[in-house]
Amino acid sequence: MIIAERKPFEEIKAMVAPYNRILILGCGTCVTVDFSGGEKQVGILASELRMARKLEGRPIETVEFTVQRQCEWEFIDPIAEIVKGVDAVLSMACGVGVQAMAERYPDKVILPALNTKFMGMPIEAGVFVERCAGCGNCILALTGGICPIARCSKSLLNGPCGGSQNGKCEVNPDIDCAWQLIYDKLKAQGRLDALLEIMEPKDWRPAGGAGPRKIVREEVRLETLDV
Ligand code: SF4
Ligand code: SF4
Repeated sequence: MIIAERKPFEEIKAMVAPYNRILILGCGTCVTVDFSGGEKQVGILASELRMARKLEGRPIETVEFTVQRQCEWEFIDPIAEIVKGVDAVLSMACGVGVQAMAERYPDKVILPALNTKFMGMPIEAGVFVERCAGCGNCILALTGGICPIARCSKSLLNGPCGGSQNGKCEVNPDIDCAWQLIYDKLKAQGRLDALLEIMEPKDWRPAGGAGPRKIVREEVRLETLDV
């Protein structure tokens, strides 16, 4: 899932400074699961903003609402009337949701309340880690199911680098060296010979190097068109 983090409060406060009535819009999917932009976080941010603006002597009116997913028209179309009634929308979705809102409501000021970080997962309560960089050509079959693009600090395809020490990464000793993990995994599976194959330089075009990516599923389009 997408992992995000709320922007610093002062940054958010400065963004909404010109507005008197705002919609704080949560998203009920990834950012609810990672505790950055769900219904609860909408409520917390709204009361923080109201309190801060009251102290400044120029109160702000907040409308709170959370849709199931901000990245799909079917969930953001029904809130047109709510959007119409505010000066600006403070979106607590990931960057995709913010852009979907900006595209659907082109006359409205849509502001991001979150910094979108990465695609990852929770490994324990409240701890989220990066697992995939969306490179467009998955090589996990060759690396024991451990992604060197997202998890090696240098995204090396043939590691480890010379700085790997005691299983830790030289860039950040708090994280495991991804290539040590790959080695250990392949060894445990009796597949170390896979490491003898040198990986060619990666073609970054499927990773976005050829511009914004798009996927078309013809079968779904045809079904929708009822052909
Ligand atoms: S190899 Fe690419 S697609 Fe596969 S997990 Fe890593 S970044 Fe994601
Ligand atoms: S120490 Fe390991 S994880 Fe860190 S950059 Fe080198 S190979 Fe990658």
